[in-house]
Amino acid sequence: MSVSRPEQTQEPLRNVTKPSLSKICEGPGCDQILDEQPRGRPARYCSAACRVAAHRRRKRGPVIVEVHFGSASTRNRREDRSWMVKLRRDNDELIVVIGQTRDGAQRLASRLNDFLN
Ligand SMILES: [Zn+2]
Repeated sequence: MSVSRPEQTQEPLRNVTKPSLSKICEGPGCDQILDEQPRGRPARYCSAACRVAAHRRRKRGPVIVEVHFGSASTRNRREDRSWMVKLRRDNDELIVVIGQTRDGAQRLASRLNDFLN
């Protein structure tokens, strides 16, 4: 049985499209590849909707890290493990962890603060 080896091509590859720097839409969560503009300012967004969404995003407030004691979700936990850490921005909040000790929650909150700001 002969082992065939891939032939080495010395010739430069032809018909390969030159890699061009294609930008991706800057709209939040959008992954549209933007067509290259023949002239003028390069496009940043694929659509008016993405331009508006990006503008709203820039106007959001800062992320605030909060430590809370107790909640419905920690009802059956030991008292010393009833702390939670939340992130808040404007009217949105995200619970990062529940069931922590006070020290644990504080350490995490402090680390998140360092990381975010
Ligand atoms: Zn877009």
